Amino acid sequence: MPLDPQQRQTALDWLRDRVPINPCLICGAPEFSLGEIVNLATTGSGAVPCLTVTCKECGNVRLFSAVLMGLVPQTEAPTS
Ligand SMILES: [Zn+2]
Repeated sequence: MPLDPQQRQTALDWLRDRVPINPCLICGAPEFSLGEIVNLATTGSGAVPCLTVTCKECGNVRLFSAVLMGLVPQTEAPTS
């Protein structure tokens, strides 16, 4: 599920306030891109919606809980 403009701003604010995302922990590059909200399958009930954040240099992908970031409600799960 792609981010809408409001979700994108919420994600950028959340990352800026809480996570030292720069530089990349793998290659040291300073730039990253926000991806989509994806569902991680679990062995329990349901899925975990996560935002992908990707290093523009090496492709290192980090996952953050979209629920914790305030991007989707706890009960909503993207259908992608
Ligand atoms: Zn990197």
